[in-house]
Formats: sequence, structure tokens, C-alpha cells
Amino acid sequence: MRSLPQTQLFNAQSIDSYRELVCQGAALVARHVAAAQAPFTGVSPRALAREFAPVDLDAPLGDADAALDELDRLYLRDAVWFHHPRYLAHLNCPVVLPALLGETVLAAVNSSLDTWDQSAGGTLVERRLIEWTAGRIGLGPLADGVFTSGGTQSNLHALLLARDETLGGDLTRLPRLRILASEAAHFSVVKSARLLGLGAGAAVAIPADERRRMDPEALERELEACRRAGELPMAVVATAGTTDFGSIDPLPAIADVCARHGVWLHVDAAYGCGLLVSPTRRDRLTGIEHADSVTVDFHKSFFQPVSSSALLVRDAATLRHAGHHADYLNPKRLADRGIPNQVDKSLQTTRRFDALKLWLTLRIMGADGVGALFDSVLDLAAEGHALLARDPRFQVVVEPQLSTLVFRWQPPHAPGDPALVDAANLHAREALAADGAAVVAGTVVDGRHHLKFTLLNPATTRGDLAAVLDLLDAHATAYLAADQAA
Ligand SMILES: *Cc1c(COP(=O)(O)O)cnc(C)c1O
Repeated sequence: MRSLPQTQLFNAQSIDSYRELVCQGAALVARHVAAAQAPFTGVSPRALAREFAPVDLDAPLGDADAALDELDRLYLRDAVWFHHPRYLAHLNCPVVLPALLGETVLAAVNSSLDTWDQSAGGTLVERRLIEWTAGRIGLGPLADGVFTSGGTQSNLHALLLARDETLGGDLTRLPRLRILASEAAHFSVVKSARLLGLGAGAAVAIPADERRRMDPEALERELEACRRAGELPMAVVATAGTTDFGSIDPLPAIADVCARHGVWLHVDAAYGCGLLVSPTRRDRLTGIEHADSVTVDFHKSFFQPVSSSALLVRDAATLRHAGHHADYLNPKRLADRGIPNQVDKSLQTTRRFDALKLWLTLRIMGADGVGALFDSVLDLAAEGHALLARDPRFQVVVEPQLSTLVFRWQPPHAPGDPALVDAANLHAREALAADGAAVVAGTVVDGRHHLKFTLLNPATTRGDLAAVLDLLDAHATAYLAADQAA
């Protein structure tokens, strides 16, 4: 039966339906999570697209039961489940229950964190969390920041502030600006340079060592070369947890170089920020306290649902570069009266109350609880490394600093032709994804295809890793046998 549009509005008249619908949605997800035998069904884009073809968006189904049935087929049946212990591919974490509770509350209340008159207590929740995070980093008394949609936006935002600090209003300096980051830095650094109107080649790649960490001496040499060439280094980006390897740049040495050269230091800790709450490994971030700005992705290593991220700065005054006063939204007279707003600090205007998820997480399970979860994946990565190091079927690239393992299937009897071994590694990964038993990642090291586990699930065991290695070996071996038979 088709319901009247008015009854679909969330308000005091519809709270019974609201309760029912939220529970119905939760029950559906719970059924899938309880039943999921594997992280993925391996469905192909073509097969799934066939299911979508008959959907007519101008012909509503009329009720939630029918719509959820359809959604089951279109989405949930073949969803990729990050909670599954054999999902080992990307930087997606399983999420904690307090954060899901937060998501439920924030979606319904629907505060927008731009101004006080759209958020009230939401603004104070976010401010306390920013203060707390800056305190964990050690940014000092003038620190501030804002929640963002993700590490990409946080990096762009940080580099915008660094650009405008360096320009000092003189746009003729724009073509001479340079950003220095290691060759292993996230691609959003190069993309930011482009978005910020810097010239081609403004992002300078600093060589990394064999563990994929920035070489501070090479950084120093490059900064000197910039000066000699009349270029203006506007920021150095150090990475605390590279996306591909989880490597942590030597922060104290880099901070030292930046201080000597008077250059803005941005630390991209999108992945490594979980160490901020680690009971045993916080020291791996030593030096981060010298940063001028820091990116943290709570949706990577704090077990928060997408999206939950923040940009922190050492000096709140630098946030003014993204500020703008609009008469209808955030007139200066309100700020002068001490009415807080967050839009003055943000690249966004209307903005989700993502901070609530982290708030409930800290209030229910505490920072140590989150840190213990992150620690357990770091322990697992160390065990996985030991497993790979003594397995003759695989070569493991480097010891993990966080929770990423990069390795290559290459048993002693493998063919001498590296291209054939490349193909076997590629095939093993794809075959695994196609049957859905596990999802692993891949990357290229020195021109050769490698396999990768990105571990973020405390429920994954050493037994899972061993079983997935056996599956990979079986797929790669079968591929070569078929190749030789052909
Ligand atoms: C994932 C990642 C980013 C980008 O973050 P998003 O939240 O995906 O936008 C930036 N830097 C590093 C080091 C990352 O690992």
C-alpha cells in the first residue's frame, strides 16, 4: 500500500514508524553479518549491473519491505564486508558498536556543524574532540582544527593553509611554491598541488629508503637546491603510515630539517593516527608534536565508520585562510560576541556531525580500548611477518611498522622468468577475489607485482593468514601448471 508522503517525514507523528524502520534496517544487516561466510561473493560488475537494469526510479515500490527486498538483491547480498576476518585488502576497518550508535543518532537529529544555530552542543562535542586529539599529538596551547570528510580533504586543507602562509598575499610568488614529500606519500599531495593552482612539478618527490621512509638528508639537499633556484618551499609533508607499506617517516629528523629551514611541516597520519591511543607503541609517532598541521583518519585506525577524519593545526590563527564571513550565515558580529562556529575553519559548509561517533566511542569504551584494538592488529602483523619470513613459498618485502605486509609468491621451483611469476601473483589475487574466500591487495615493488595484506581487523587470526597464504599458493601453482600445459 502506498503511504502518504507526509507520513514519511521524521517527526513526532512518525516516531513509531521511525523505530520500526531503524530496527528493520538493523535486522537486515544483522542477518547478513551473521550469515556471511566470506568477505565477498566475487560477483562481477556485469552480473550486478544486470540486476539494476530493470529498476525504474520513477516507479516507487511504495513500502520499505519491498524496497529492502530489492536492496538485498542489489547491494547487501554482494556487499564487501570489512568486518570479515579474511578481508585483508585496503585501509578499511571493521567498526565499533558505539560508533554505530552515534551514526544512528546523528543521522536522525541531522545537526549541521557549520554554525551554532544549526548544531548547538554538536559544535562543543567537536571542539572537545579536536582539543583532545591535539593534546594527544602534543600540538601546544594554540592548537585547533576541524573534522573533515577524509584524509584527502585534510591534506588539501593543510596545504592550502601552508600555501597562504607562504604567499603572504603576494600571488606573484605562486609559481615558485614547492611541496616536498616522499615518493611514498599519498597521491592526494600531488593532487592538492594541482587543485591549489601550483605549477606542474610543484610537488617534489624526496627519495625513500629501502623501508619506504623519507630520507631526511635527501630532504635537506632538496630544500637547499630549492633556495638556490629561487623556489619557495611552502610545506614538507611527512607520512606517518604510508598507504602502501605503513611506513613511518623519521619524524624527529624531518622536524629538525623543517625547523632549520623555516618550512611548514605537515604530518599525514591518516593511517598511523591509531598509534596516538596505543598503550604500547605511541613512541613510534615521536616527533609528530613538532608538526604545523596533522591529518588523522579516525575511519582508518580508530574503528570508526566512513567518514570520520580531522585536520589539526598548531596555531589556530592559520585556519583563517579558509574563513569567510557571509551575512546570512556567520557574520563577524556573532563571532565577536563569542558565539562559536566551525564553518570559519572548514572547507565545507553544511557538514555531518561525524564527531559524535568518536565521542560515543571514547565515552563508552575509552581511548585505551581503541588503542588495544589497534595494538592487536600490529601484533598480528608482526606474527604474519614471521610466518612469511619462514615460508619458502613467499618473499616478504619489509618488516611492518604498522599493519601492512607486502610479499610475493616465489617458491624455489618458480620459473626464472619474472614476468611469469608476476602473472602468477596477479592471477592468485584475482582468483581469490573471484571466488570470494578472501580479499587481498596488490602493489608493485621495483616493477614487480606483489601481494599485500592490510590488517585492520582484530578478529583476524594467524590461522586466517596461514589459510589465505595456502589459497594464494594453490591459485598461483595452478596458474603455472595450466600455463605449462598450454
Ligand atoms: C587513506 C590515506 C589518505 C586519504 O584519506 P581518505 O580518507 O581516503 O581521503 C591520505 N593519506 C594517507 C597516508 C592515507 O593512507
